Amino acid sequence: MDKPHIETLCHKCHGDYLEAGFIVVKVPGQKFKDACTHCQSGQGWDYEVEAKEVNHG
Ligand SMILES: [Zn+2]
Repeated sequence: MDKPHIETLCHKCHGDYLEAGFIVVKVPGQKFKDACTHCQSGQGWDYEVEAKEVNHG
């Protein structure tokens, strides 16, 4: 089983993950934005990213 992992996501990549069906939960307590680990061009917050189990009919 995959454990959730932490990624720094800008606003755009956060939306991309949500659209792709991932569970994305913000990690609390962050005071400063970091470089996005996904596109590496934006700035964003740390999120716990977890693959959602999808049942196709
Ligand atoms: Zn990004």
